[in-house]
Amino acid sequence: MPSIFTRIINREIPGHIVAEDDHHIAFLDINPLVPGHTLVVPKLEVDYLFDLEDGAFCKLQLFSKKVADALEQAMPCLRIGVSVIGLEVPHCHIHLIPINSMDDMNFSRPKLNPTQDELTVIANRIRQILDPRS
Ligand code: AMP
Repeated sequence: MPSIFTRIINREIPGHIVAEDDHHIAFLDINPLVPGHTLVVPKLEVDYLFDLEDGAFCKLQLFSKKVADALEQAMPCLRIGVSVIGLEVPHCHIHLIPINSMDDMNFSRPKLNPTQDELTVIANRIRQILDPRS
């Protein structure tokens, strides 16, 4: 069965997509730790990040860097925190999190539950920075 992220990639379920190319996609986490929490995902459905072949791994990092740069501009913060967990969704992904303190990276604390409208506003802001014509 395809992962929930593959279903977003295939537009079978909605996602607040901020960036995409032939091999990667980035969209907002529906239950973010902080507003702007973004997931960067390779389209190839591999469970464990370190099972990606070297080229795919490096390209995913470069794609993440581009998204992180835009995210930092869209969501003023001290920096973008990076995390890989993968205990919930077996399709590898990188969490990009706009942080102002260590606690913003605390995955044990209760997650936020933003409305679709709130997610749309943030996704549009990030997309605009990545592609001002959008
Ligand atoms: P983990 O696999 O432990 O790295 O966590 C998976 C992350 O994916 C969690 O932060 C979830 O909130 C997020 N998530 C799960 N389903 C969706 C979805 N349909 N759209 C966006 N984010 C999701």
